[in-house]
Parts: sequence; structure tokens; C-alpha cells
Amino acid sequence: MSTMIKKVAVVGSGTMGQGIAQVCATAGYEVVLYDIQPGLLTNAISALRKNLDSLVQKGKITSQDATITFNRIIPENDFRQLQVDLVIEAVNENLEVKQKIFGEIERWNGKDCILTTNTSSIPVTRIGSVLKHPHRFAGLHFFNPAPLMKLVEIVRPGFTSDATIETLKEFIRQVGKVFVLAQDSPGFIVNRVARHFYLESLKIAEEKAADFKTIDTLLKSSGFRMGPFELMDLIGLDVNLSVTQSIYDSFHQAPRFRPNPIQQQKVEAGHLGRKSGRGFYEYGG
Ligand code: NAD
Repeated sequence: MSTMIKKVAVVGSGTMGQGIAQVCATAGYEVVLYDIQPGLLTNAISALRKNLDSLVQKGKITSQDATITFNRIIPENDFRQLQVDLVIEAVNENLEVKQKIFGEIERWNGKDCILTTNTSSIPVTRIGSVLKHPHRFAGLHFFNPAPLMKLVEIVRPGFTSDATIETLKEFIRQVGKVFVLAQDSPGFIVNRVARHFYLESLKIAEEKAADFKTIDTLLKSSGFRMGPFELMDLIGLDVNLSVTQSIYDSFHQAPRFRPNPIQQQKVEAGHLGRKSGRGFYEYGG
């Protein structure tokens, strides 16, 4: 475990919050998991138990390890209890909501508590601009699904101290991930590069040069784990679109980042991918 960090708070118990909580607990950290919606927090705890049980069934961990890991994750409905060494915020992609959370968290924690956001596309500098002590603030960008994806981008605004970055590097090594340091520029590194994976594929489908299944098949056969359309369905078409929109706006509407109408229409129709049962593909059950 990190020498500076013993206890972690994960704020937001959705897709990313659950995964990040599992990663931290597996590495031995005590984790407080908070969500504004108590019902969603209960669901998240059941989903975490199920995930750990499925790892036991697959023979990846022992049932004793699953129980120990599970017991390290404490659901919490009271914001004032989030007194920890490291906060990882993973709530909806909304600047005002995130800023409000960090303003509150600062009230309940000393100035050495490190605060991080898992934002995909909001400038980290802008989120941290409301803080009294921004030197301890940075982006910690995990990828989906967090327990499986090795890479984490540590995003550094100008105001972040060297000590904060060093502690985060050590923490990321301790949770068994690989970090890359990124400056706070739109989309950081991975999401900026990945826009073209999605947008060019959407353009090919829009022009009817090939259908989406063919594009997925071809890209998988050339070495990608998932095709762009399968991946959009996994991430959530709405989440993926909002990242594109945000990068497009940050680059002053540069045509190369323009959102695609096929994706916009699917989002408007509520076809958001796996989570809604239908996106580019259909998901039974
Ligand atoms: P999600 O919609 O699955 O979960 C968000 C959770 O935040 C919900 O449970 C919601 O109740 C909770 N929440 C909302 N307001 C809150 C508040 N004020 N206090 C506490 N909890 C609150 O979202 P997600 O996909 O897990 O994304 C979370 C963050 O991670 C976003 O910033 C997103 O851009 C980023 N991200 C997402 C992915 C992805 O593939 N989904 C990948 C990397 C990063």
C-alpha cells in the first residue's frame, strides 16, 4: 500500500465508481463508497459482490480473498464521513456538480487529503479552480472496465504540486496499474486519439462504405480487442457522445472532432448501448 494513502473515498457508485472501488479494495485499501442516490449505492454494493463472486467462480481469486476485498468497501450515505487520504470522484460528467462536490469535500478534509477527478473530458483545471488548496488536486483517469484496464492517465493542471503527483504515481503502481502523465489538454491523450477510432468509423457507416458490423469485424481482425461500435455500446453512446462534444467544443469546433449524426440520433432515441439493452447491437435480457 502507498505510504501516504491508507483510506480512499470513491464518490459516485456508477460504472466507474464501482470499478475503481474494486481496484482499490483489491490492492488492500480501505474504501468508502458514496453516492447521492442511496438506491444506486445499494445496487453498486450488490454488483461488486457479484463481480467478486464471478472471479472466484473463474478461479482467479479465492473465496476468502473475495470476502476480504468486499469487506474493505464501506457504503456511505453521509458526505461528512468522507474523511480520507485520497478522494476519487466519479460522478456524472457535469462541471457544476463536480465543483460543488470538491467544495464540500474540502470542508471535511485537511489540506493534505489528495483530491482527484475521473473526468473524461472536462478540463481538470476548471474543476479544481474552486478549491482553496488546488496544489493537492489532479485528474486520475481510469478506463472502463477499471478492474481490467491497465492504463491510468494522471492529469496535471498547472497548480498541482510535485508532491501530489509523486504520491499519485506511487498509488497507481500500488493498485497494479500503469500510469502515463498527461497535461490538462482537451481529451488528455487517450480520448483525443480515440476520437478518430470512433468518428472515422461512424463516417464510413454514414457514407455506407461499409456497415458497422463489418467495420467491427475488420478492426478486430487487425488486432483491436473490440470494434468501435461494440466499444461505444459498452461505454454508453451518451457518455461517448458527450466526450466527443466536449473535445469538439474545446478545439473550437474543429471539423475533425465533429460529432456524427448517427450517434446523435441513437442517443436521442434512447439507444444508449448495453445499459439500455440496445445501441448499435441488441442485448437480450
Ligand atoms: P454513471 O452514470 O455510471 O455513474 C455516476 C454516478 O454518480 C451515479 O451513480 C450517480 O447517482 C452519482 N452521482 C451523481 N451526482 C452525485 C453527487 N452529487 N454525489 C455523489 N454521487 C453522485 O457514470 P460513469 O460512467 O461511472 O462516469 C463517471 C465519471 O467517469 C464521468 O466523469 C465520466 O466522464 C468518467 N469516465 C467514464 C467512463 C466510462 O466508460 N463510462 C470511462 C472513463 C471515465
